[in-house]
Amino acid sequence: MTSEAQRAALEAVALEMAGRGWAVFPIQPGRKWPPAWHRKENCPGRGPCATGHVTPESLATTDPEVIARVWARMPYNVAVFPGKSGLHVVDCDVRKPGELDGPDGWAELVELAGRRGGPLPETWTTTTPSAGRHLWYAVPPGCRLASTVGHIAAHVDTRGWGGYALAPGSVRDDGAYELFDDTDPVPLPGWLVQANVERAPTATSGRVRTAVAVPDAFAAKAVREECEKVASTPYKQGRNKALSRAAYALGQLVGAGVLNEDIARIKLRAAVNSWGDAASIGKDYAVIETSLAAGIDNPRRITPRHSRRGTGKEAA
Ligand SMILES: [Zn+2]
Repeated sequence: MTSEAQRAALEAVALEMAGRGWAVFPIQPGRKWPPAWHRKENCPGRGPCATGHVTPESLATTDPEVIARVWARMPYNVAVFPGKSGLHVVDCDVRKPGELDGPDGWAELVELAGRRGGPLPETWTTTTPSAGRHLWYAVPPGCRLASTVGHIAAHVDTRGWGGYALAPGSVRDDGAYELFDDTDPVPLPGWLVQANVERAPTATSGRVRTAVAVPDAFAAKAVREECEKVASTPYKQGRNKALSRAAYALGQLVGAGVLNEDIARIKLRAAVNSWGDAASIGKDYAVIETSLAAGIDNPRRITPRHSRRGTGKEAA
């Protein structure tokens, strides 16, 4: 496509998004984000910021005249700001064809929907150049949802206020964003609203046999020791194995009914976070889930000394 044809095509995309009532902002061709936008601390107080600092989100518009003027200049990609547009975009990293153990946010999301008993209705959906999938939902009235990263499930982000998503037709060096399902955005299901705003880890797994709110001294010691082992594993050297072992061991205690699954998960995630390796956090959290589940399915046999104090004689 010639540059002019591409410019005209992207202008049409911007106008179409705006026609849906979605606020758009231009992105440098080939990029995901305006490279030159400044932070509030560095605001020059000129141009768009002449009467106070503004953000791309605050400048995003549905005004067709502004859009026609801006997109006349060059083939800008089209960022949609979901918060301002009454949308919430669920962003799944998807395993690439041929990858055996890459991220699969879509599978995680489907599993979470199953655990929660919630629907995952078909809605307006786009695909990304890296084979990811964006599900565009309408935000229920009265909800104000922030963007999240890996919060509702591994490899699943959400784009609400403070976030943006590129419209189909936008182009990167490695490919284009494409429309995958043109169903008009349906309301975001209640369970996804809930998952987005929850502070605690979201799993409400049916595998837990006993919900123990506070671990007893035995379980607490195990949690402390296992998580210390994980946290103190040197960079890259055996971290995966250490994490997998610790999560399995704690899962066995969860399965035995002496440890709460959410507490185990929170402590293991904290140990992973202490590594400070943001790039692998999604993968590490996935290891926690897999190994925790495996441990839960193979509960540790706890002697009565541990499960009921004062009846140690039964241990024989
Ligand atoms: Zn500014």
